[in-house]
Amino acid sequence: MDVHVVPIFNDSLETLNFIVLLYDITEIRRLEKVRTDFVANVSHELRTPITALKGFSETLLDGALDDNDVLVEFLEIINKEAGRLDVMVNDILQLSKLEQRQDNGAKDIINVNETIEDVLKVLSQKISLKDIHVNIVGQKGIEIEINPDHLKQIIINLVSNAVAYTPEKGKVTIEIGITDNNLKLSVVDNGMGIPENQLNRIFERFYRVDKSRSRNIGGTGLGLSIVKWLVENNEGHIEVKSEVNQWTDFTVWLPISITDNNNEEN
Ligand code: ADP
Repeated sequence: MDVHVVPIFNDSLETLNFIVLLYDITEIRRLEKVRTDFVANVSHELRTPITALKGFSETLLDGALDDNDVLVEFLEIINKEAGRLDVMVNDILQLSKLEQRQDNGAKDIINVNETIEDVLKVLSQKISLKDIHVNIVGQKGIEIEINPDHLKQIIINLVSNAVAYTPEKGKVTIEIGITDNNLKLSVVDNGMGIPENQLNRIFERFYRVDKSRSRNIGGTGLGLSIVKWLVENNEGHIEVKSEVNQWTDFTVWLPISITDNNNEEN
């Protein structure tokens, strides 16, 4: 709490009274901390792939170039780390762009099934590479008023995680329905699951369950923070349930349309 005391003077410059102004700066301080933590985390996370790029390229330049097998192996690592860096920078830019916006951008009436089909096309290579069976169940023809990019990004991130954290020939079910004027969208997989004591941490920026298990899968630890941000800024909410080595269920509720009270009164 910041306190400012402002004296009130009369014409002879005698103090008549005081105005005490109390500023609640808790939220401002919290946001400052979120921002500085974010910059520190970003720098730390970017350092890992950059160190690998530097290390492996320097070793090649120092002579390892002459061994063809080593050359190919190192170039593959360099290529993979450069790819990781690319994804990470894109995610960081996306999150910071979202946070700078004052509003949710242009909304439209969106057919949810069509958006899911679009997402499955974008992810088709990933899905067929692991031979994952994706099923869409529930009510057809649901329409929701939202920024189309937001809905697409929420579904892309949840479905690509479901595919990434499920073994080959696994199953991913996308279920849609309406409850209490909300779109209810669940993405359920039968993959590796998430330990109970980590369920409340996975929405944190850069948090990854057991870094060693996630390393081979790629990813940045930002996907779910982007989803949570998008869902909550569209007045919805998200829940996760899971059973290790059995299944994971991410369910999102989003208002079908955000009522504009002014319009209703007119
Ligand atoms: P990442 O880029 O690492 O996937 P996310 O923010 O999307 O980052 O997810 C955070 C962590 O939550 C992941 O690293 C993973 O450990 C865990 N996770 C997310 N989705 C699933 C899922 N469907 N099944 C198992 N673990 C998951």
